[in-house]
Amino acid sequence: MSAALDIRSAALAAPRPIDLPIFDPAAFRLDAKTAALADQARDLAREVFAARAPTYDREARFPVENYRDLHAAGLLAICIPERLGGLGADFRAYSIAAAEIGRFCGATALSWNMHVCSTLWSGPIVDGLDLAASEREEHHRRRDLHYRRIVEEGAIYSQPFSEGGAAAAGGAAFETRAVPTAGGWLVSGKKIFASLSGHADYYGILCTEVGDDQKASRRNTLYLAIPSGADGVSVTGEWDPLGMRGTVSRTLLFKDVFVPEDAALMPRGAYMQAASRWPHMFLTLSPTYLGLAQAAYDFTVTYLRGEMPGTPPVKRRQYPTKQIAVAEMRVKLEGLKTLWLQAITEARPDPSKDSVLRAWAAQYSVMEGAHDIARLAIRTCGGQAMLKSLPLERIFRDSRCGALMLPWTAELCIDRIGRAALYEPGETDE
Ligand SMILES: Cc1cc2nc3c(=O)[nH]c(=O)nc-3n(C[C@H](O)[C@H](O)[C@H](O)COP(=O)(O)OP(=O)(O)OC[C@H]3O[C@@H](n4cnc5c(N)ncnc54)[C@H](O)[C@@H]3O)c2cc1C
Repeated sequence: MSAALDIRSAALAAPRPIDLPIFDPAAFRLDAKTAALADQARDLAREVFAARAPTYDREARFPVENYRDLHAAGLLAICIPERLGGLGADFRAYSIAAAEIGRFCGATALSWNMHVCSTLWSGPIVDGLDLAASEREEHHRRRDLHYRRIVEEGAIYSQPFSEGGAAAAGGAAFETRAVPTAGGWLVSGKKIFASLSGHADYYGILCTEVGDDQKASRRNTLYLAIPSGADGVSVTGEWDPLGMRGTVSRTLLFKDVFVPEDAALMPRGAYMQAASRWPHMFLTLSPTYLGLAQAAYDFTVTYLRGEMPGTPPVKRRQYPTKQIAVAEMRVKLEGLKTLWLQAITEARPDPSKDSVLRAWAAQYSVMEGAHDIARLAIRTCGGQAMLKSLPLERIFRDSRCGALMLPWTAELCIDRIGRAALYEPGETDE
């Protein structure tokens, strides 16, 4: 075969960027299970979710159909142990699978993250904490109830923590209060930006347990799954945001809602222990945005090659400025991917200071970097590429939201990195 023919047949066989995994299993040394879960997530998102994403975005509508498919595929139970009917993914395997979904529908990946974290936090994260044997036994009994609902009934959980004050940033006790009562608590309060509002079966809230005459303290934070249909629960407000429109993150109100003891997703005191000893738990919002960064890059390569479905087959790759822009995007993307993969690989209880600094750096880089790559994609591909008939402008809008997510917003990451790099615990300049 001549060299010319060789090149042509290689070009014909070239896979589409969207068919390739974000992390090549051989290059990034993924184990077989992690690679298989990533493939499963990518196939479902590419074949099914990608086509639905424009409608959810346009109508700011929750991806109900995607959630049915996630349940049918077992992916609602991705982090539930296999012995209970789940897929048994660990932190890293889940994060990589979530990035693959984020490539095709950011809003589904982001809200799915809230759901999955209910099982990840009550599962592997609590398993790494110090608990009395009786507490652990009780916790296992309770979490099995929640896991069974997810596996058998397709129950959906959310994580509405934000209240608009300093609590979600870790600076104060949550204002949503749980007052002990016979058999459980009476919960009252308000959560803003509650993704999956009106669609989750259980709202997994953080709140402060306060007895009579007791002062609210962060140490008394509880993590409770409130049934969405319970008396005293309501959803209010409009939802018409710039991006991540399919998350339907409206406001939740709780007024003297009775919540039984079995609703606890973590034992008393465990959330604060986890927040200080398992900091990577807050890195779980980043996979969605790594997926969006990859999507913006994939779009650009496909578009400049004149291979974007629904557009004329006009090649634009021959212009040096476009080649330089793609190179710049590739350099940024490779940096995000390697830093991020390293950070999620280090997730464990009691990480070193160096490891925590890297986790903040990874979060900052992905949340800001995804939007930066999307910005370059729009500038480079040109005007016709940002029409609403194509996914790039949605990727651009969705990617803008990453840096705003508490508790590790881009600003807070920078703030913490600077302080932790220059000061050891307890050091002051007095
Ligand atoms: C699409 C989308 C979906 C979301 N879904 C959820 C969800 O499901 N659950 C949930 O709990 N939240 C969710 N959020 C909310 C998110 O995590 C933030 O709580 C929210 O964006 C904060 O908005 P704010 O106006 O209160 O900003 P502020 O809290 O005022 O923050 C503005 C900026 O100020 C800085 N800042 C805030 N607090 C401090 C501080 N103590 N010290 C220093 N700097 C600080 C941060 O950098 C922050 O970016 C979602 C947000 C978006 C955009």
